[in-house]
Formats: sequence, structure tokens, C-alpha cells
Amino acid sequence: MTLQACGGEGTPTEQVSQSDTTASDDDQFEYFAEQFADLKIIRYQIPGWDKLTAKQKEYVYYLYEAGLAGRDIIWDQNYRHNIAIRKALETIITNYSGDKTSEDWNNFMIYAKRVFFSNGIHHHYSMAKITPNFTQEYFSTLLEESRGSALNEEALKAMFDPSFDAKKVNLDPDKGLVKGSAVNFYSPDLTEAEVDAYYAKVIDKNDPEPISYGLNSMLMRNSQGEIEEFVYKSGGLYGSAIDKIIYWLEKASGVIENQPQADALKILIEYFRTGDLKKWDEYNIAWVGATEGDIDYIQGFVEVYNDPKGYTGSYESIIEINDFDASERMKMLMDNVQWFEDNSSIMDEHKKKNVVGVTYKVVNTAGEAGDASPSTPIGVNLPNANWIRSKHGSKSVSLGNIVHAYDKSGGKGFAEEFIRTEELRARSKEYSTLAGKLHTALHEVVGHASGQLNPGVGTPKETLKSYASTLEEGRADLVALYFLLDPKMVELGLMPSLEVGKAEYDSYIRNGMMLQLRRLEPGEVIEEAHMRNRQMVAAWCYEKGMADKVIEKKVIDGKTYFEVNDYEKLRGLFGELLREIQRIKSEGDYNAGRALVENYGVQVDADLHAEVLKRAEKLNSAPYGGFINPKLVPVMEGGKMVDVKVEYPSDFLEQMLDYGANHSFLAAH
Ligand SMILES: [Zn+2]
Repeated sequence: MTLQACGGEGTPTEQVSQSDTTASDDDQFEYFAEQFADLKIIRYQIPGWDKLTAKQKEYVYYLYEAGLAGRDIIWDQNYRHNIAIRKALETIITNYSGDKTSEDWNNFMIYAKRVFFSNGIHHHYSMAKITPNFTQEYFSTLLEESRGSALNEEALKAMFDPSFDAKKVNLDPDKGLVKGSAVNFYSPDLTEAEVDAYYAKVIDKNDPEPISYGLNSMLMRNSQGEIEEFVYKSGGLYGSAIDKIIYWLEKASGVIENQPQADALKILIEYFRTGDLKKWDEYNIAWVGATEGDIDYIQGFVEVYNDPKGYTGSYESIIEINDFDASERMKMLMDNVQWFEDNSSIMDEHKKKNVVGVTYKVVNTAGEAGDASPSTPIGVNLPNANWIRSKHGSKSVSLGNIVHAYDKSGGKGFAEEFIRTEELRARSKEYSTLAGKLHTALHEVVGHASGQLNPGVGTPKETLKSYASTLEEGRADLVALYFLLDPKMVELGLMPSLEVGKAEYDSYIRNGMMLQLRRLEPGEVIEEAHMRNRQMVAAWCYEKGMADKVIEKKVIDGKTYFEVNDYEKLRGLFGELLREIQRIKSEGDYNAGRALVENYGVQVDADLHAEVLKRAEKLNSAPYGGFINPKLVPVMEGGKMVDVKVEYPSDFLEQMLDYGANHSFLAAH
């Protein structure tokens, strides 16, 4: 499963930003690269790279090369003509020497970049075909003058006839899930009924540990006219790219960090060789068990969102490095978790005598490929097979440097628009990154672990029902907020001063009172649990502190701002609400819980909502973000890799052309 970033200005959620880079690095690094159509191209860094040994860097390098070696696979999976079309685009961009000032050329380049971004001619998110704003004649002229070989009739039709193979994945049953989807998991002559009949025949419904049927194959009619699975494997479908993947994985297995990693990698290579899905399960079990070491990866045919029938996995690769700073923060909180419990604002009877913190994992990605690039998830939870998850567990990670880069790529305009004074903007600029990380760490490690139910009271799911998750997220947020202004945080060395906590109070109130409303359409109420809890917390504190002007609403030149006047008093209110929500949870007080959520967390102030939408709209930020990957450059000495340097390219197109030239192992067909 993947966790996707929301639309809007690209920031996944306001409260998270977990990776680490030193402040000075961060100031100099340009996160935003460019924007075209509805897309924003962002750069990201690999924090902690220098903390890896040369051998670890070599391991990362091979894994990343293995990932890139399969890049062509996602292009072909997404649509059968994608590789041919991409090669034509690459040829034109590389060779064309005619007029590059015309509007036609400009439109051609935008089209090409959109196709590169989506790994094909269908939009990565809406699944609709990308429309070229130039004619077929113009394209043919470009291709001829660039000495490119002509595309076949059907590929041209795919590019220029909007009704032909119009949607990558169609989920409207009237149009046929299989026939209506352009995605290349089923040959075009197959119907949904035939696909269903095939799987009904092969799936063993009584197997408690079923393989992931169809995960690594394309369904086609064989020469006898029967439906057959053509398996992705060495010597099979996509064999030439898979052989390259195996080549790099074998190199990686020579520089592993520990034995469990070696065991898992060995099975993965075996799986790519044979295509045997039993091996894939075996690999996943070994991978879930390999928890030691600083480096991990996702590699293979994994998520099935692109298959309208949900069988076949899209190729993807994500290389992950432990986020050392986040781990350190987590350890510090873990070591002191009992102190936080003892000093919380909740009633003594609701405090745990022996509290155990919750572990959570933040990683930084060193490179992504396939379906995970350029558009990427911000978190991943695998494996997908339910029986493996329940029997052997799963790994859940948040991609810290990606979240951070999203955060940094669009913040400036928002700060200018929604933060009123220079002083507040300066504090936000200096401390909001650290504040966000500490909030997340406190929320996860201390917040969710805190408190206990009264004897005999059922689980929140039973007692608080549909309000349980909003109240739980609110409770964890409040634990974080309460301690973010505690001198203990400075004493533990987690923050340089309480200014960090104040920066978090400012942004939490601003977001909960108004900023998050930009995610809603006019007329909607708040449904999503995190959004409900943020407004509930902010609006409750605003109302309870109104007499003392703890939080003040200011309208200046028609623009509304919510500003904190008294941070200590606000901390007191956070503590008070925390105590109450813990009581609600501990006692299972449904009516009080419902009243809190319904009165403060659901309804939207229509005027304020309209204002926020208007102010956010004029910032004109592309709704979808994607990333330029770092480039890993080996340093060789006497035929031996002695180091790997990281370069941060800034040109999206250049990276796409580099991938096309140096990491392409499938022929167009
Ligand atoms: Zn939570």
C-alpha cells in the first residue's frame, strides 16, 4: 500500500516534515526546479549520505542501478505503444535542429515532458490521455527532420486520436474494466469475462496462504487460441530488462550489510529468474524479517492499482536509507517516555504506570524508479499479501526527505500570503521544519502510546465508533502540542529554545482555523479524520480562550489571520482539552466525544472558506508534484569502488534523456 501526497500546493500534510538536513544546507538547496501544465518538478537531497560507509554506499548504488534497469517495464506496462512513442520524443529532442522558438515547438516540449512525467501518454493521476497541442503533421515533420524512424499507424492514432485508448485505467463497468483500460496487462482482444474465467480456473480459494495470482504476468491468447499468462522473468516477458536487474542485484548481494539481507536478496534474484510467485512470497517473508541495517529497498512488481482487475503489479523501485536524525530523536523520546506520561495533563488514574513508546520508521530515499518516479508516494506499507502481513508482519515507512522536499518546494508564496508579520514569517522559516519533525515524533512515539482505559471499558472503536479516529488523532496531537512548549524539550537537547514550540503553535492554529480549508470544495463539510481533529483542537481553544484573547482573529485589508497572543495560556488550553479527550477515551463517553467532534470539527465557515480558496488560488501552484532523482556517481580506484558521490541534477528533461539513453533495455514493439 502506498500513502499518496494530497493535491493543493503539494504539501502532503501540514504537520509532517520529518527528514533532516542542516539549516545551512537547506537554505542553499533549491527544491523547486520547474513547473509546466499541472505539474511541479521538485528536487530532493539524501541527508545522512556521508554517515554511510563506502561499502554501504556501494550497496545503495547497485540497488539503485537495479531499480533503473527496469524503468522501461513500467512504460510498457502502462501502454503498449509507450516505449515507441518515448523513443520518438527522445530522438526529436536530441536531434532536431530546426526552429525552437515557435509555439508548436514549445507545445511539443510541454507534451514530451508531461509524457516523461507520467511514464507514458496517459496522465499519471487522472488516467486520461494527454492531449498534444500540435498537429500530427508537425510531429511527423519533426521526426523526419530528426532522422527518427516513423511510428506505426496505431501508435500515431494513440497520440492524436483522443477517443482511441482514451483511459489508462477505467473503473466504470459500463465501458468494460478490461476493454475500457489501455493499460497493457491484458492483450487488447481479451474481454473481462475471459479474464474472470481464467482466474476462476487457476485460483485455489481454499489455500490459506495463496500466491498473488497474476502479479507478474500479462494475459494473452497463445498460438492455440487459449488464454495464457506470459510471465515477467528472465527468458520470459521483459526478460532483457529483468536480466539487467538480476545483474545489479547480484552485485548488490556482494556488499550486503548482514545475513538476513543476503538471504532475502538471494530469493529475490531466484524469483526474477523463475517468475515463481511462491518465491515472491518467500522473499517477502525474508524481507519483512530483515530489519537490521541502515539500508532497505522495494523492488519488483508490487502495487496493483494500475490493473483494473487488481491482479498485476506495476514495476517499481525505492531505495531507502535510515533517517539517522529521526532515529536519534525517537530514541531520546523513547528513553524519556515515562517522564512525559508522568508529567502529562491527564488525570492520574488515566496514566500508564509503565508506558512503552511506539516505534515508527522514517527513511530517506536515495533514488526511485518505475511507478514510484517521478511521481512518488510519501509512505509505503508492505507486503500486500494479507496472510503474510498477519503471520509475519509488515514494514511501514515514511519517506522523510520526500515529505520535506514537498514542504520546501512551495512554502514561500504561502508564507507571504498567510503569515501576517515579518517577525512571524522569520520564526516560521527558522523553526517550522524542526517543529514539524518534533511534533510528528511526539505524536507517534509518546502521543499514541499515552494513557489507559478504565477497567471494563471497551476499545475506542466499540465505544466511540465513527468518532474514534478523529478523537485519537486529536489526543496524539494534543500530547505533542502540550510538550512542545515544555522546557524539558530544551533540556533534552531536542530543540534550541521554546521558539520552536511557538512556531508550531502558530502553524497549528493557522492551519486548523483556516488554511486546511483549501483542500475542500465549496459547500463540503470536513470528513477526513486528521482535518476534523485539527479544526476541533484549534476551534475549541479559540472559543475557550476568547475572553482572554489567547488566539485573536484579525481581519486586515480583507484578509483574515488567526494569531496567538498568549502561548502559555494556549498551552494550558491544549492541556485541558487533552485531559478531557483522554477522559472520553478512558471512560468510552460516546456522547461527549460526538459533541466535541460535531461542534468543533465538522462544519465549515463558508465565508472564510471562500476567502482561503481565493487567496490560495492566486498562488498558482501546480496540483501534482514529482521529483528529479539524485545521481549516484561511483569513484573507482584500481577497478574497485572506493566511494560513491551524490550529485543533485536540476534539469528534469536532462535526467529523462539520460535514463532513456543509459537505462533502457526493452525494444519498442
Ligand atoms: Zn496519529
